[in-house]
Amino acid sequence: MEDCLFCKIVKGEVPSEKVYEDDKVLAFKDINPATPIHVLVIPKKHYENVLDVKEEDKEIIADIFQAINKIAKKLGVDKDGFRIISNCGKDAGQEVMHLHFHFLAGGKMGPKII
Ligand code: 5GP
Ligand code: ZN
Repeated sequence: MEDCLFCKIVKGEVPSEKVYEDDKVLAFKDINPATPIHVLVIPKKHYENVLDVKEEDKEIIADIFQAINKIAKKLGVDKDGFRIISNCGKDAGQEVMHLHFHFLAGGKMGPKII
């Protein structure tokens, strides 16, 4: 997608601090971290959000979760834990319309998601 910020990050047109990359998935540090470790995990292919992932594309979700598995180990938080969030649409406050999973870690988080 021409005007999509995360597509530009995938293409290297906008710089990012990469944490993990394979042929389908990219992970990079959030520019405005909410927790000591805040990584965005995205498919390289453009999907708006979870609702845009159709039956024929469903493997990308497994690819993303395999990447998350590796990222947790790479960052050394697989023992202590982490939180995954994907904002979808207006009420969730989705700002960037390219599917992404927030990977949050680096300290005890609150008991609730909100
Ligand atoms: P959303 O609210 O759409 O779920 O989350 C978008 C996230 O993207 C926010 O946490 C925001 O800080 C992050 N973000 C916005 N612009 C940039 C950018 O240019 N680079 C990086 N690394 N993160 C960004
Ligand atoms: Zn995009």
